Parts: sequence; C-alpha cells; structure tokens
Amino acid sequence: MSIEHFDVLVVGAGISGISAGYHFQTECPQRTYAILEGRDTLGGTWDLFRYPGIRSDSDMYTLGYSFRPWTSPKAIADGPSILKYLRETAEAYGIDRHIRFGHRVTRAEWSSKEARWTVTVQRGEAREETRFTCSFFVVCAGYYDYDAGYTPHFEGTERFRGRIVHPQKWTSDVAYEGKRVIVIGSGATAVTLVPELAKKAAHVTMLQRSPTYVIARPAEDSIANWLRGHLPERIAYSISRWKNVLLGMMFFVLSKHAPQFVRKLIQGEVRRQLGASYDVEKHFSPRYNPWDQRLCLVPDGDLFAAIKTGRASVVTDHIETFTEKGIRLRSGEELEADLIVTATGLVLKVLGGVELTVDEDRVDLAKTMSYKGMMYTGVPNLASCIGYTNASWTLKCDLTCAYVCRLLNHMSQGGYRRCTPRVSDPSITPEPWIDFSSGYVQRSIHMFPKQGSRSPWRLYQNYALDTLSLGFLPVEDGAMEFSR
Ligand SMILES: Cc1cc2nc3c(=O)[nH]c(=O)nc-3n(C[C@H](O)[C@H](O)[C@H](O)COP(=O)(O)OP(=O)(O)OC[C@H]3O[C@@H](n4cnc5c(N)ncnc54)[C@H](O)[C@@H]3O)c2cc1C
Repeated sequence: MSIEHFDVLVVGAGISGISAGYHFQTECPQRTYAILEGRDTLGGTWDLFRYPGIRSDSDMYTLGYSFRPWTSPKAIADGPSILKYLRETAEAYGIDRHIRFGHRVTRAEWSSKEARWTVTVQRGEAREETRFTCSFFVVCAGYYDYDAGYTPHFEGTERFRGRIVHPQKWTSDVAYEGKRVIVIGSGATAVTLVPELAKKAAHVTMLQRSPTYVIARPAEDSIANWLRGHLPERIAYSISRWKNVLLGMMFFVLSKHAPQFVRKLIQGEVRRQLGASYDVEKHFSPRYNPWDQRLCLVPDGDLFAAIKTGRASVVTDHIETFTEKGIRLRSGEELEADLIVTATGLVLKVLGGVELTVDEDRVDLAKTMSYKGMMYTGVPNLASCIGYTNASWTLKCDLTCAYVCRLLNHMSQGGYRRCTPRVSDPSITPEPWIDFSSGYVQRSIHMFPKQGSRSPWRLYQNYALDTLSLGFLPVEDGAMEFSR
C-alpha cells in the first residue's frame, strides 16, 4: 500500500489547526498540507463543551483570527457563535477541504536519513491503522485530554442519590430546571455555569475550597462597536485587537509589579457589585496574588447579579463527604442537592498524546527545552501551537503558524531539509514551562518541556515581544540548526 505524503501535516482542527491551514495555504502556497482530526467535526474545544452558558472568557477581538474580523457586537461570545465563526472561516478559505476527520494520530517517527516524519493514525471507529509521511509536522492538539475531565477523589460519591456530572461530559439530558444544584469549583467553568443554571434552577451553590479573582467586564466592547460603525471592518478590528492586547498586557504588568494595588482594585469592584454586607474577604479574596493563577471574567457581572437575587450563593469550605442528600462540609454544614456539577478542571495532555521518536529514540518532552514556545530541542521539523496563559490563545497560535511559514520558506530558499533547535550556550538554565500556582498546572508540570532563562528559549507570554521575535528576527539565530 502506498503511503500518502504531504509537505506539512497538522494534528487537530480546532482554533489553532484552522489557523495553521490558513497560514500554510496563504504564505507557503507551493506546499501541500493536510489536517488530521481525531473527531468527526472541527472546532475542538468549542464543539466538545456543551454545558449551559459555555462562552469565551477572553474577548473575541483577540481570540478571533488576525486574518478574519470578529463582527458580532458581543466581545465575550457564547460557544455556538465561536463554533460558527470557526466553521465559516474554514469554509470561506477552503481549509475544510484539507481536513481528514476521524484520523487520530498516535505516533510520529522522524527519520534523519529520509528527512521526514512517518505518522501513524487510527482511522474511524474501527481504529484501523494507517500511515502518512510529511516533511514538517505541526501539532495543534490543544492542551488537555478529550476523553475525560479532572475529578479529584471525593468520599461517598456512590451514596449520593442525585446525579453527578462533569462539565466536559454535559449532555442535553442533564436536568437542572427547578432543581437544587451544587457546582464544585471556582474557575472559569464554575463562574460561567452558576449564573446560567441559576436562571432555571431552584438554587445554585458554588462550592469552592478557596476563592479566585473574579472580574466583571462588559459583554460588549463599546469602543470596538463604535469603531466598526465608523471604519472599514478590517481596520476597526485591527485597532480593537491591539487596544485589547495592550490593555491586557498593561493589566498583567501592573498585577506583577503592584499586586496589592490590583488586589484592592478587584476586591473593591466585587464589593461595589455585591454590597457592603457581603463577605468579600471570605469568598472573593484569594490567598495568591493576581495573575499567579488565571483570572476569571464574568460578562456584565452576571455571577454577582445571580448572587444578589439570591438564586445563587457561594460557600467556601472543604468537602468532607458526599451524602445521600448532598455534600457534608468540614464545618459540619450539609448542602442538599439534586444535581452536583464537578467543575474541577481538565486533565492536561502534551501534544495530543502523540508518541514521538527521533531516529528510533523515544522523545521525552519533559527533558527538552522549548524554542520560542513552539519547537523542542533535538526534535527536528516539528512545531506545536500552544497559546498564552495570560492572553487569548489565538494570538500566539497565529504568530506560531506565521513563523513556521517563514521557517519553511527559508528552508526552501536555502535547500535545507532539516531544522533542529539546540542549546549550545551553557549559561541557559532550565525553568518550568509555566509559573502558575494552580492545582491543574502543578499536577502536570512534570510532563511539560522546560523553558530557558533567556531568549529564544524564554516564554515571555507577551504578544508585543513575540510579534517582534517571531515575525521579524532572523530565522538563522544560532539556536536553530539547519542541515541539507
Ligand atoms: C471551556 C473552555 C473555555 C475556554 N475559553 C477560552 C477563552 O475564552 N480564551 C482563550 O484564549 N482560551 C480559552 N480556552 C482555551 C482553549 O482551549 C483555546 O482557546 C482554544 O480553543 C484551543 O484551540 P486549539 O485548536 O489549540 O485546541 P482545541 O480546541 O483543544 O482543539 C484541538 C483539536 O485537536 C484534536 N486532537 C487532539 N489530539 C489529537 C490527536 N492525537 N489526533 C488527532 N486529533 C487530535 C482534537 O480532537 C481537537 O479537535 C478555553 C478552554 C476551555 C476548555
């Protein structure tokens, strides 16, 4: 059987994979490419999650693509609208014609002799094994396991007579109308679910072990909407995008340099929203500084509004055990429920679980250092799209894909067949990939590559610096080794 060959193979047809498709066909039109998608549909995250109220928690002017304006008046958009935008983008540029659905990539083996990857795929429900080869391999597989979310061990779950559901496994038959609901968690998913469920449930309790920073922001960006009414679409979009990038960066830098000031600012706003008698200290005062973990955004303060009406409440305590009727807390209080939602997070996964070998040696990514946050020491012709932790994911993915195109074009011009990042400077020291103190990061950080102490090994998490580094600095920088 002949093996199909592409110049570039992309894993995943989510936001990043579609961006990759656009960049390859636009900036390297002479190269062939295909996108291998494990599921039967595109959109990734925005198709997988079906819980009520699913929405972005960053604005669509930065979560949208640089090449396709987001034109809806809502800056914080609901999941179905984001999915529609992704589908329309894939169709508009013919990227959908390059996607092979039902192709789950399990292994990729690099051969230096042939200067190509052999990629093993399980196809369809029968998981029939098939192979492709490619000269360059781009992994756009997101960052978490699609099979199941993270649920810590809770005592007594088998005794609970109601239903327990993880948001990643939400289906349309999960009934919450008129029911007493407990949402366990305090992250982005919990703060999204609580106000939405509260619209129909008898009552919703957000049960958290410790608080998170929660910031109210208008769902609509009035400046962006004004610009769209007065300027050509692309110019208005570009200005709104940079405005939001810069505001986000300023807030991040301020949080890092004046954490106490930002803490007071955020808490003052929560107090203003919830009233002086509300115990903000207990429920909305995290033990860590702003941006030591991701902040949670609530459009138009919907979470606070739900709390104010009494349809939702926050309990900050530890779970002792599930009971027949609900959850008993360490304080002795028992919360009764018909439905318990475990918004306890994701299981992180590196490069879509694809097993990599280079000349028959298995690659342990945790032992590599990442180059510009996208390639890995000793691993030739492979890049991955991993977005920012402190800004919209797409910003970095767009830059990554554009950079890979520059790299490919440079290789064509120089007649190179292989490029491999290598650390030759002994003064570069390894550091963890992310410095977040969040549980989900700490649980998985050992699986992730390291970053280095200096450029081009350092992850600055800064769109302006990356625009310069990925868009303009020479591809031949001494750290990237090219060979014919
Ligand atoms: C509920 C939720 C809300 C979020 N909101 C925001 C937000 O507002 N702003 C923000 O910046 N980020 C947000 N994120 C992060 C979000 O995941 C990214 O913004 C973005 O959707 C990631 O896109 P992606 O294409 O890189 O990955 P994904 O959306 O995860 O898509 C990856 C694709 O790769 C496929 N795939 C994975 N492994 C394989 C394999 N081995 N073989 C074949 N195919 C494979 C998957 O099936 C999937 O289709 C959110 C995440 C979640 C879970």
